[in-house]
Formats: sequence, C-alpha cells, structure tokens
Amino acid sequence: MEYAYDDQNIFAKILRGEIPNKTVYENDYALAFEDIAPQAPVHVLVIPKGAYVSLDHFARDASAEEHHGFMQAVAEVCRIMDVEAGFRSIANTRVHGVQDVPHYHMHIIGGRQLGRMLQ
Ligand code: AMP
Repeated sequence: MEYAYDDQNIFAKILRGEIPNKTVYENDYALAFEDIAPQAPVHVLVIPKGAYVSLDHFARDASAEEHHGFMQAVAEVCRIMDVEAGFRSIANTRVHGVQDVPHYHMHIIGGRQLGRMLQ
C-alpha cells in the first residue's frame, strides 16, 4: 500500500510549533497533548514525530526506536493522567475508521465508565 503524507495536516503544524497545543508529555519520538474537543475527562492524543499517516503505516515503516519511543509516551500519559481504573485507546484509520486528521494518532480516553466499545 502507498501512504501519502500531507505535511499541511493540523498535527504536522502542531509538531512544527505553528499552532499551540496543551502538551502532556514529549520525548524524542512522540508528542502527547490534550484533545481540543474531549470526549471524556481524560482525552489525550499521542502522535509520532515522524511523518506517518496511520497506525498501519507506522506499524509497517517506523523504526524500533520510534516504536519504543511512542509506547514509552503512551506509558507516561497513562501514569500522568492516572487512568488506573482503565481507559480506551483508539486509532481511527481512513474512511471506515472515520479518521479526520491524516497523521497517526492514538486517542487515550478515560476518567469515566466508557461503556461497550461499539453500539
Ligand atoms: P480522528 O482523526 O477522527 O481520530 O480525530 C482527530 C481528533 O483530533 C479529534 O478528536 C479532534 O478533536 C482532535 N483535534 C483536532 N484539532 C486539534 C487541535 N488543534 N488540538 C488538539 N486536538 C485536535
């Protein structure tokens, strides 16, 4: 599959510092920030700093260091946001997954009972 990355997407602009974000955690490979329209008391987006359009793109082409750095950011977000009671991670992907922003991002959602995954 061909993955075409559009560097004008909003998360690319956040990574370049062109628009602000509420940073929760950052390392060399990933940035985590609060979702602008939270769906629950905890709603953080974790994004890689590399140019990946989707989870499957990242899974296929990212280096071991990028994978490790991304997951380390996920762990830090879970610690910082104190989601010991549980949370949901979501990676909406392309058309069927209703992905709005074409830069891979993992939603970390929690802070309340979320109900079943799909209606
Ligand atoms: P999706 O691509 O459908 O998985 O979701 C994109 C998410 O990005 C939505 O939850 C939006 O609320 C969020 N979002 C869009 N723009 C911003 C922004 N400037 N800062 C933080 N979150 C954003």
